[in-house]
Amino acid sequence: MIVFDLLCGGGHRFEGWFGSSEDFARQRERSLLSCPSCGSAKVERVPSATRANLGALEPKPKPPAQPQPQKTPEMEGKDPFAIAQMLYSRMLDDLLTKSEDVGREFPAEARKIFYDEAPARAIRGQATNEEHQELVDEGIPVARLPVPPNTKLN
Ligand SMILES: [Zn+2]
Repeated sequence: MIVFDLLCGGGHRFEGWFGSSEDFARQRERSLLSCPSCGSAKVERVPSATRANLGALEPKPKPPAQPQPQKTPEMEGKDPFAIAQMLYSRMLDDLLTKSEDVGREFPAEARKIFYDEAPARAIRGQATNEEHQELVDEGIPVARLPVPPNTKLN
């Protein structure tokens, strides 16, 4: 099988598969060829050199799909940066509403929870750099949260 680039009288370019050049000539003589777009039987073979150029424009194979954060309609059309910000602020909201605010008691409370002296729960609060470092040194899992200045904590 060979592929010929074909051009109809209406200027539509399309491809035709033939057993051979003779096959193409035969089909054309009998008006068996017609344009898939307009049905014109006036079909010419065009130099297939253009294929090389068109080839470069063919879409590249897609990379394997990456797991994407679940999108919601409000995210449609937004750029990835805006979506990331939205997800981040949502995560932060979640964290802030589902955790108990223990304020300045945070270091003590985190320690109690770690040592099973207080019920295990998500807490948030303030700690100085020193207190934070002490918790880390003790192996207590705490995370610092860069809370945006306009985020209400309560
Ligand atoms: Zn046509």
